[in-house]
Amino acid sequence: MKSLEAEAWEDFLDMTVSQAILWAASNIYPEKSRSEIAACEPYFIGSHSGGSGAWVSGPEDINTPYKWGYGNMTTVKGLFSAGDGTGASSHKFSSGSHAEGRWAAKEAVRFILANNTLPNVAGVDELKAKCLKPLDTYAANCKFTSDPMINPNYILPMQFMFRMQKIMDEYAGGVVSAFKTSKALCDRGLELMVMLKEDAEKMGAKDRYDLERCWENYQRMWQGEAHLRTILFREETRWPGYYFRADKPKMDPAWKVFCNCTYKNGTWEFVKRDVVELMP
Ligand SMILES: Cc1cc2nc3c(=O)[nH]c(=O)nc-3n(C[C@H](O)[C@H](O)[C@H](O)COP(=O)(O)OP(=O)(O)OC[C@H]3O[C@@H](n4cnc5c(N)ncnc54)[C@H](O)[C@@H]3O)c2cc1C
Repeated sequence: MKSLEAEAWEDFLDMTVSQAILWAASNIYPEKSRSEIAACEPYFIGSHSGGSGAWVSGPEDINTPYKWGYGNMTTVKGLFSAGDGTGASSHKFSSGSHAEGRWAAKEAVRFILANNTLPNVAGVDELKAKCLKPLDTYAANCKFTSDPMINPNYILPMQFMFRMQKIMDEYAGGVVSAFKTSKALCDRGLELMVMLKEDAEKMGAKDRYDLERCWENYQRMWQGEAHLRTILFREETRWPGYYFRADKPKMDPAWKVFCNCTYKNGTWEFVKRDVVELMP
């Protein structure tokens, strides 16, 4: 048992170097003292656990109704996803993500070869201006206050990130709420999201690094909202330990389904999709 345990520790530390750093930083000797653990990994992890992620077309040789031509193509034509980016499978891990990545890339090449005309992309200049807007917002306003960190005309990406993280943590079943949430908390979280979205238009970037962080925030904000709304839609607790709906703490067989959400022209839509048992 001792040698098995040593091997397990070695495997664990191989992939979690930061754990050793944390022990060193907090004077923990794991063989002598206790180490705190979190009950969950508070991230959006598609394939690692939870099964969340993009809804993609399944492979031809597996009997499901979920196929629309190219393997691993999302419901957006020409957009492919794999690994942690795709949902509907809760345990792909590293090797499964790698295999799926190869498959998705091959299917993407097949799509490109069949659709090899240059798309007519309109509005490039507008898109470029939109992408660079946080740099402009910062440059136009940073001299307005004596400290550019504090400014009524923009929000810096680090400040935005902390605010978004706080909303998700406190209202969407994050670590500070011990992974618990409820309808009332999700509803309040969504109200706060409305204001966050308003302020997202005012993100300011002092350099290109900041600009990247702004867009990362922007995309995470939409991901966060989709997550909150999906927790609300699913009236049960499907993954106890990862998050609990305190007002619906049980797994309900009626909810043994996938929940898909789409956002189009300002409207969110939710549908249930049957789980097809491959090995009943
Ligand atoms: C804490 C933890 C423990 C885990 N333990 C295990 C384990 O024991 N065994 C196991 O097999 N699996 C484990 N996994 C799961 C495994 O790590 C993932 O399933 C796998 O890494 C997913 O691979 P991926 O290529 O899909 O995504 P990732 O490895 O996340 O790769 C995505 C890449 O895209 C980059 N990226 C993101 N946005 C952009 C952008 N806009 N432009 C350019 N690049 C971008 C990211 O920087 C990243 O490098 C664990 C995961 C976590 C989080």
